[in-house]
Amino acid sequence: MNLGNVLPVCSACRCTPPEGLTGGIWLKGLFLCGDCLKNLSEWQENERPYLLLKESLAGLWRHHPAWRQHLAYGGKS
Ligand SMILES: [Zn+2]
Repeated sequence: MNLGNVLPVCSACRCTPPEGLTGGIWLKGLFLCGDCLKNLSEWQENERPYLLLKESLAGLWRHHPAWRQHLAYGGKS
């Protein structure tokens, strides 16, 4: 997969890290920016970003059907 020209959008806060692909990580087909990674522990107290992440997951699957296949490799069917 060539990601050279792709700018990631964080699935939780919808931002694009200035560092691009190196400004966060891919997590089961979703991109999380560094800020959201740092806030992961706080999500247990405030579930709103987590719910947004779940909505993003559903949206990504809806708009990018090919990702279903991709996710099926590592996810449970
Ligand atoms: Zn983020």
